[in-house]
Formats: sequence, C-alpha cells, structure tokens
Amino acid sequence: MKWFAATIALWVFSHFMPVQAADRPVYLRTAWISGQEYVNLGDWAQARGFQMFWPLHGDDITISSRWAKLSLKTKSRVISLNGASVTLSLPLVAQRDTLYISRLDLRTLIHPILYPGRPDRPKKVLTVALDPGHGGKDPGNEAAGEQEKKHTLLLAKEVQKRLTQAGVKAVLTRSADTYVENHDRPALAKKLKADIFVSLHYNSVPSGRSDVSGIEVYCLTPATTASTNDPRDSGPHGAMPGNRNDEQNALLAYTLQKQLLGLGLNDRGLKHARYTVLCYAEMPSVLVEGGFMSEPREAKRIVSQAYRRQLATAIVDGILAYKRLIERPAAAKK
Ligand SMILES: [Zn+2]
Repeated sequence: MKWFAATIALWVFSHFMPVQAADRPVYLRTAWISGQEYVNLGDWAQARGFQMFWPLHGDDITISSRWAKLSLKTKSRVISLNGASVTLSLPLVAQRDTLYISRLDLRTLIHPILYPGRPDRPKKVLTVALDPGHGGKDPGNEAAGEQEKKHTLLLAKEVQKRLTQAGVKAVLTRSADTYVENHDRPALAKKLKADIFVSLHYNSVPSGRSDVSGIEVYCLTPATTASTNDPRDSGPHGAMPGNRNDEQNALLAYTLQKQLLGLGLNDRGLKHARYTVLCYAEMPSVLVEGGFMSEPREAKRIVSQAYRRQLATAIVDGILAYKRLIERPAAAKK
C-alpha cells in the first residue's frame, strides 16, 4: 500500500495550497478548467472569513462579511462587488456541487480591490496624468453638432483644476485641440513623471441603439484572457507593459467607478480592454467613459457645465480615494 499512500500524499500536496486564514488554516482546492487554474470558491470564502450562500445550488451566489459583499452568477463574468458591477476576466464555473473562480481573477481583480495596498512596494501618487481623448484631426464621437474631443478637454481641465486645489499635481497629454497619437500619450505621461494615468472619453454606440447609457471604467485586459466586449480577442501572446500594473489598474478603476456611481447614471461596469493608451502605460492606468453621446438625454448632460463639474468632482474623489489606499502605512493592510 506504500505506493498508494505516496500517491495520495503527492495528490494532496499538488492539489491543496495552504493560505493564511483569519482564524484557522484552510486549504484552497484547485482545478484546471479550460487551461486556466481555478480555485474552489467555498474554500476561498472560508479562508477569507466570508459567509457563502448558494441557495439550492442555483445560479445566484452571495458571499458576504461585515465589510464586503459579492454577488455572483454561475457561467457569468459579471459580479457585483460592494454594489458596483465588475467584470471577471474568466467566467465563474459550477461543477457538480462545487463553484470555482479563476486564480487570475482573484489575483488581478478581487484581491487588489478587497485588500488594497502593497507594503513591499510603497508608492506615492504625487503627479496624475490626465489624457483628454482624441483631438485635432480626430474628433472622436459626434452627436447633435458636438464633438467628443472638445468635451474631454474641458473635463480634463476641470479635473486638473480640482486636483491642484487638493494639492495633487496634474499634467495633461494635450492642453489644446491638437492631435496626439494614442501610443505617444502614455510615453508623454512617463516623461512628465506621472504616477497614474487617467484617460477621459465619452461613449457612443455606432448605429440605431440610442437607448444605451451609463458609465464605464476600463482597465487593461490581463494577459491570456479576452477583453470584455470582444470574447474572441485573447490578445498578444505575452503581457503588455501595462500588465505589470494589473493589480493597481483594477484598484484605480474600482475607486473611480465607486465615485462615478454617485452621479446616478447607469452602472455599465468595470471592464477590460486592450486600448493602446492602457497597453503602453507604465504607471497604473484607466480609461473613463463618462456617458453616452448617442443617448439624447445623456448627450445633453455631457455638454453641460453642471454635469462636467459633477463628473470632475467624482473623478477627483476617486483618484484621492486610490491615493489614500495606496499610500497608507503597511500596518493598516488587512
Ligand atoms: Zn473616445
């Protein structure tokens, strides 16, 4: 029976990984599904001190504690995290009576948001690069005689003013109606020694659907997974420069999204995309879509000074929330 015991020991060793639990050690059982490593969601919840509810093993799952709540659906990539819609890179999988979440989503999305701060790499947010989308020969989206490039620049200047008032240096990748290549924008931010990069845009649907509205916040798609809006895009073989900051990208997107939801617009979620500016940013970076120009009521708000000021305040509050989390002392880390 020796070989049997050895096989069992080897199997246990290779399939269970000890994690630091709140009160007692819990082992995370793992599985390989469609070429990706998945973690038993029940084990993870227990290890992190959460209660998990999966009524009748149906489609809806709730994981909660006193300070956080996650609502998930089987086979879905969209979850609700403390009330904000967040998109996983890989779908949640139910196999018989067990739920699995990808280790990649835990590492690049869930943990950075729930347990922010990196004591091993203290980082201060002293300079923020604001990137007004489009400009010059590239007008961006157009609706009712208004061009996106004009309103992203007005918004960037409003955010810059408020950040300066809050004591944070803000630099712009363009400060006039000029054309700047998308590839050059993160390079310019690096030259200006920016610690984070926030690209500002307004959305549009190409044809017909004038009813689509709301806020979206994008961060770079993690390597080897598909972007939210393009399930067939698995990206280049290797990671992009922006993937070095997957964790901070997610946290910055989430802190911004949480503030933007206070504007009362439709929550279209934290999403992943391989936009050029995000691919090549060497500092934590996000792209904010501040509403749909193709939706008539939202287009009216976008061109109004009142909404611009509200949006700018929310963006500044999101940046300052990120700054507080990332700069807090190591001892405060959960
Ligand atoms: Zn745009």
